[in-house]
Amino acid sequence: SYFSDLGLAEPILRALDAKGYADPTPIQRKAIPALLEGRDLLGIAQTGTGKTAAFSLPSLHRLAGDLKPTKPASCRMLVLSPTRELAAQIAENIRGYAKYLRLGVQCVFGGVPVGKQARALVAGTDILVATPGRLLDLIDQRALTLRNVEIFVLDEADQMMDLGFIQPLTRVAALLPKDRQSLFFSATMPQSIAELGKRFINNPVRVEV
Ligand code: AMP
Repeated sequence: SYFSDLGLAEPILRALDAKGYADPTPIQRKAIPALLEGRDLLGIAQTGTGKTAAFSLPSLHRLAGDLKPTKPASCRMLVLSPTRELAAQIAENIRGYAKYLRLGVQCVFGGVPVGKQARALVAGTDILVATPGRLLDLIDQRALTLRNVEIFVLDEADQMMDLGFIQPLTRVAALLPKDRQSLFFSATMPQSIAELGKRFINNPVRVEV
């Protein structure tokens, strides 16, 4: 099976070609068609399986197929990641996949001054990758609203729990618009993580690799 069989737009296929990806990985084969249809997803997958592309490629396809001007202090897609390293890596990957699309990607995380990140969000962005604490700081400073989020991705849910992010995530869940697509990934799925997932995803397709 090839990426072109999955129905992704031509600029995305070109970016994959430039990266040298020939075939989709198992999680990409299973997740991409459901995500292109707008379904929610529960993904049980480790890093290294290609899950970043699995959630990014169909999301880019959907956003690019319905281009809109960015709204101030807003994003259309929000990806939450537990650590700054993972967040930066996801943003870098998405920029690569989006290089032939007119979609902007920004990344915010703690440990660096918040002012510059807040100023960069004034005009809004298409895609925001964030760690939970810094995301809430920006929201509390009125530098960001989640009101216009169309696609929400929670990555590494088990690490989020281990790092004590359950409270921030509960706050985020309450701020997201009801009408959205949600993707929830974890390497493991004990009861506590499944319960957290229920706050975000609705009738999801379940993909385990
Ligand atoms: P991830 O699990 O998202 O961290 O991806 C693991 C690594 O595999 C990353 O370095 C990706 O760039 C790479 N990768 C993702 N999908 C593919 C693919 N279909 N073919 C080749 N490499 C890939």
